[in-house]
Amino acid sequence: MSGRVIGPDDPRYADFTTGVNQRYTAKPASVHLPRSTEEVASAVSGARGRLAIRSGGHCFEDFVHHEGVDEILDLSGLSEVDHAHGLYSVGAGARLQDVYERLYRGWGVTIPGGICYSVGAGGHVTGGGYGLLSRRDGLTVDHLHGVEVVLADGRTIVATRDSSGPEADLFWAHTGGGGGSFGVVTRFLFRAPLVRPPSEVLVAALSVPWADLDERRFARLLGGYARWHHEHRAPDSPGAALSSLLMLNHRCNGTVGLVAQIDADVSGSDRVLNEFLSHVLGDLATTGFARAGEFGPMPGLAPPRRLPWLQATRLLGTNTPVLTDPTLRAEHKSAYVRSTLPESQLRTAYEYLTRVDVTNPETMLVAFSYGGAISAVDPAATAVAQRDSTFKLLYQAFWSTVDADSANIGWVRDFYRAMYAEAGGVPVPGEVADGCYINYPDADLSDPDWNASGVPWHDLYFKDNYARLQRTKAHWDPGDVFRHRQSVRPA
Ligand SMILES: Cc1cc2nc3c(=O)[nH]c(=O)nc-3n(C[C@H](O)[C@H](O)[C@H](O)COP(=O)(O)OP(=O)(O)OC[C@H]3O[C@@H](n4cnc5c(N)ncnc54)[C@H](O)[C@@H]3O)c2cc1C
Repeated sequence: MSGRVIGPDDPRYADFTTGVNQRYTAKPASVHLPRSTEEVASAVSGARGRLAIRSGGHCFEDFVHHEGVDEILDLSGLSEVDHAHGLYSVGAGARLQDVYERLYRGWGVTIPGGICYSVGAGGHVTGGGYGLLSRRDGLTVDHLHGVEVVLADGRTIVATRDSSGPEADLFWAHTGGGGGSFGVVTRFLFRAPLVRPPSEVLVAALSVPWADLDERRFARLLGGYARWHHEHRAPDSPGAALSSLLMLNHRCNGTVGLVAQIDADVSGSDRVLNEFLSHVLGDLATTGFARAGEFGPMPGLAPPRRLPWLQATRLLGTNTPVLTDPTLRAEHKSAYVRSTLPESQLRTAYEYLTRVDVTNPETMLVAFSYGGAISAVDPAATAVAQRDSTFKLLYQAFWSTVDADSANIGWVRDFYRAMYAEAGGVPVPGEVADGCYINYPDADLSDPDWNASGVPWHDLYFKDNYARLQRTKAHWDPGDVFRHRQSVRPA
């Protein structure tokens, strides 16, 4: 490992010890930069103190970049993407856009993962991984065949879908049980045939000026988005080839944004897309896409344009000002939604998105498509328990100075608590909500001041699957070597 363990004197130290979210910084004695599984194993065996695993550094919470961390193991040197013996191998440190480029250019395949180019496979896949192809092709973990994992005692094991006994549990725990709990994943294995992406997609990106939205029209917009997803939730619905994001920026931003993508190879795709747009937008006036929410300007996508899939993926994945701003500070909270939204929630959303004391244009509620092929999988088949949700909500704010922390964090917290007021301030699984996404972690779920529901954080993320995750943890990491604020606790 000579030259591949750095300390505070190294010029690269700050880069490896700060999260994408600049609220989170660690001060470890050393950062390990392994280039092979053997080097990962020797770093784990020789660790002196608390070790944190990092792949892309995008964690919404301080699970990696935390003051209590003594050593960081950074996997970005293990980023190879390859194909041999009927298996695709993806290094845990690979970034999503590199994975898409390599898999598609090399073999014409992909995984149905997330949108943002720089997210690391290590955290993303272990948490489930969904994106614009998920309504068509399921979650990333639905295609996972195996994981190579370095265990707490330094041994390396390959656990697969075909394993039995405790190894089967270890594989299963990596299909949505979240990163940082069981060991260090060095590579993910996906079995052929893997997903063939559409050769072309139709993409629409539109803005609606807030000036055109009163409370009734806002409720129609968000309510229409929810209703369309409820009506088209079945895996065999023609709408399963379509995915979208509705970016409800705060009114001070000036606009809200809608991005939709559909597999252009499906017959009638233009009709399905147009029906979706008119169902959600009704008679609202739209303009070509100006900057809204998570995306930068995307002119030329209104009316919808036909684009090669990889080019569309590149465009949507890289056109994200929130990732290119090195001063980024952020707060996020999530909720799965399994039905249409009640009027009380539509009213609360309008109230918080129009509050006059908010002046940050990067405060927003984003709705992401879910359902379709995702719901064809049994809730216990992988660690992702939420299989009948039709979309997800992400409450978030981005800003860049410490003095704005409390106003922005406060807005996200108050908004969330008001939305789920009847359930103790969190989206307790029930008729409408279905808990939270582990890849959008939220430390407040463990805090009785913000979660008064009586439902613990782990049940909000994992529901009935938590018991098996705990048994797996007890078997493979009984000493709790791999831990963070919301890691799986040994049974
Ligand atoms: C801008 C942005 C956009 C996003 N878009 C999407 C999206 O479209 N779809 C979606 O599903 N999610 C999305 N996410 C969430 C993303 O999937 C998670 O933040 C994910 O955990 C990030 O992985 P990482 O490796 O980059 O993060 P890291 O901060 O490096 O790690 C996250 C967690 O995983 C653990 N971990 C990391 N690597 C390993 C490993 N090799 N072995 C074991 N544990 C590991 C860490 O210890 C930590 O607990 C987005 C996040 C951001 C910031």
